[in-house]
Amino acid sequence: MLQSLPKLQLFDLPFLNISMHQALDLITDIIHQGTTTTIFIINADCLNKTFDDPEYRHALQNADHLLADGSGIRLGCRIIGETVVDNVNDLFPLLCERAVQHHFSLFLFGAKPGVADQVKQTMTQRYPNLNIVGSQHGYLNFGSPEEHTLIQTINKSKADILLVALGAPLQEKWLATHRSQLAPKILMGVGGLFDFYSGNIPRAPLWLRKRGLEWTYRLYQEPRRLFKRYILGNPLFIWRVLRWKWSKSHP
Ligand code: UDP
Repeated sequence: MLQSLPKLQLFDLPFLNISMHQALDLITDIIHQGTTTTIFIINADCLNKTFDDPEYRHALQNADHLLADGSGIRLGCRIIGETVVDNVNDLFPLLCERAVQHHFSLFLFGAKPGVADQVKQTMTQRYPNLNIVGSQHGYLNFGSPEEHTLIQTINKSKADILLVALGAPLQEKWLATHRSQLAPKILMGVGGLFDFYSGNIPRAPLWLRKRGLEWTYRLYQEPRRLFKRYILGNPLFIWRVLRWKWSKSHP
């Protein structure tokens, strides 16, 4: 299955152009095969960050799989004449369902103290047989013995899937640095996911999400923090795509 998955490319980053169900099948296959695999999710803001952050770009280039999220990437692909088939922003509940069906266990790492525990509580109420074998907040002392202890805890938990919610680019850099020490088969960066599923930050209504406008809701919730990301970042991203498209046709 792995070889046959369709891909698209923006700048120097090829990403999988697959449905959420195909992404779940991929995750299932990987766990059954038993090879540790990194899966990172990219959106327009992530791609903008790669222009200023070579370490992050390197982590994305060396990921086993990239998945695309958000209307910015969708629009960017339309500009180059391609269509993104799906958006992975609602993958988490489906991943939990799949984990229950296949007896996969999860470890949640990231977000403010208490948030990952809340996610564990909420999701195990929703999916009673869901096996979340550990959680850890994301504000530990990186580079200290605490980090080493965390890696040991993750490995001892025997989790199949490690979800890391430190935000981009920290989570991708952390996973790129530690992947060889980590035992879970799926190492995935999930950004602000835990904040949404703990109920701390409400998700945009479904009708906005379906129209690719979740970002407007997030901007409304946190205007100060997200102004640069969306109001300046989205036009910058489109301009970069146009420039890249032009450079490809005028080598
Ligand atoms: N975070 C963390 N440790 C840090 C910095 C951030 O755990 O040192 C968490 C933060 O609490 C939030 C997430 O990382 O839950 C980042 O959320 P954001 O919405 O910025 O991420 P995005 O989805 O945009 O990558």
